Amino acid sequence: MSAAHELIHRTGQSADFEIHIFEKRSETVGGKARSIPVPGSATGGRAPLPGEHGFRFFPGFYKHLPDTMASIPYGESTVVDNLVVADRLEIAQFDKDPIVVAARFPRTLDDLITDIEAIFGENTGLLPGEARFFAGKLWQVLTSCQERRLASYEKITWWDYLEADTHSPAYRNLLVSGLSRSLLANDPTKASVRTVGDTNIQLFLGILEPGHPTDRLLNGPTSKVWLDPWRQHLEQQGVIFHMDSPAARIAVANGRVSGVTVTTPQGERTVTADAYICALPVERMEELLEASRGPGDPVKADPSLAHIAALAKEVSWMNGIQFFLKTDVPITHGHVLYADSPWALTSISEAQFWSNEHLPGCGDGTVNGILSACISQWDTPGILYGLPARQCTRAQIADEVWAQIKRSVNVGGKTLLTDANRHSWFLDPDLTETANGGIEISDAEPLFINVTDSWAIRPEAVTAIPNLLLASDYVRSFTDVACMEAANETARRAVNQILKLAGSNADPCTLWPLHEPDWLAPFRWHDKVRFELGLPWNGHLI
Ligand SMILES: Cc1cc2nc3c(=O)[nH]c(=O)nc-3n(C[C@H](O)[C@H](O)[C@H](O)COP(=O)(O)OP(=O)(O)OC[C@H]3O[C@@H](n4cnc5c(N)ncnc54)[C@H](O)[C@@H]3O)c2cc1C
Repeated sequence: MSAAHELIHRTGQSADFEIHIFEKRSETVGGKARSIPVPGSATGGRAPLPGEHGFRFFPGFYKHLPDTMASIPYGESTVVDNLVVADRLEIAQFDKDPIVVAARFPRTLDDLITDIEAIFGENTGLLPGEARFFAGKLWQVLTSCQERRLASYEKITWWDYLEADTHSPAYRNLLVSGLSRSLLANDPTKASVRTVGDTNIQLFLGILEPGHPTDRLLNGPTSKVWLDPWRQHLEQQGVIFHMDSPAARIAVANGRVSGVTVTTPQGERTVTADAYICALPVERMEELLEASRGPGDPVKADPSLAHIAALAKEVSWMNGIQFFLKTDVPITHGHVLYADSPWALTSISEAQFWSNEHLPGCGDGTVNGILSACISQWDTPGILYGLPARQCTRAQIADEVWAQIKRSVNVGGKTLLTDANRHSWFLDPDLTETANGGIEISDAEPLFINVTDSWAIRPEAVTAIPNLLLASDYVRSFTDVACMEAANETARRAVNQILKLAGSNADPCTLWPLHEPDWLAPFRWHDKVRFELGLPWNGHLI
């Protein structure tokens, strides 16, 4: 949809491009970002309760996606105006008061250490010096040149870089895993310093720099306030959606894609076009390439595509669950990271932000709040059943998540969440119980992780097959972490190549490198000189 949008906005409705989108799902567009109406929840002519695969957050450093959203009409304005700022980040702990981070820090270099110590210093279980040590490590990434990040930090896990094994459990939970795993499902034992460090820096800089919100979210269910209006807009612009039509095979002849076979409710058909963008998640792209083996094998025409099979193994589970509440409980005005939760939970209390949704108009009319949580760790035993999430039934998952959240927020003599206030829950339907005892969970839509050294084998949006382009969160991008921003950026890269191939004089899509603060440029420059001389980082200017 990003690619279709950017192409049509650059060339105009009646121009040379006819755009068709072939989507596997029968109704909803938007992939993992879509909302999921809770089946059977509506009574009395109301709408179903709004469920989701996982809540959506739009960090302040996103530029590509908000730029596209700013040209999707929504009433008198655009959908980007449906983004609202969350001004708190809460780090909840078991049986202890939470740490609440306000979205403003003083803006000086030395203050980075002081600030991190102030936030994580007291009542956290961190040992003396650990917050300072962490700040120093972040500082190292901040002041390292890009060349060092690619050559060296790409090869080290975030876990090893932060020397997690030799520090306290609180350090591991809060600083190593908490920030990386909870926000974008980056397993710190696998994800590279380059990816997690760069992303953390972007998040911290959003806090440091005045005028840039760190955390934004939509003011209603994602499909309602963004994706459905987007589809409608694209259709009005002439884009044709073919739902229930997964791509089944790609055929290459004479070095170019000669056609793509799609499976439709009426049977298979071959689609031919001037150019094709595969905007599939990595594990589906791998399936598609596998099914395309034979005389017209795309991998023979571009052997680098073979790496997609290795990348497809690097996926992790991150899935959402919503607790519908009779009375709203806004835990904090922003996201909550559950630092001690063995399942690496995060949550958001949505109703306070959802000016665009009247919850009592949904379900049976008695829901007034939604606590939407994401589970990012599936292999660690929980506190209620002693089982990892992977081995629980759906109902056990719901109870276990509820127990971990309650133990984190019902603290300091306050009882924010009660069982009596819980109306119902909805767990991502991608998680299905299997027949073998009913305790295994399978995930139809996992999330890619940028593991160490994966940059070298990740594809560019432009392949060696001139009319085959790739766009998705695993494709190389400035954003370099699996998220909606990366998916949008790579779609822009694909569109720019199509414009080039077509000899179009339309303006190419803008691409933004990750923001590096100007005030640290002398440090990065100094480090670049040292890197080129083969010297290690030292963090000083002289
Ligand atoms: C629980 C969870 C929470 C997340 N939260 C955030 C967040 O807060 N912020 C953020 O930026 N990112 C978040 N992400 C990551 C984000 O959802 C993904 O990075 C993003 O959706 C990737 O977009 P995509 O278009 O590449 O893939 P997808 O969103 O997976 O979309 C792919 C589309 O292709 C379709 N498809 C699959 N196979 C075929 C086929 N053979 N033929 C045709 N169509 C096919 C699918 O049905 C789907 O519509 C989250 C991810 C998860 C799992």
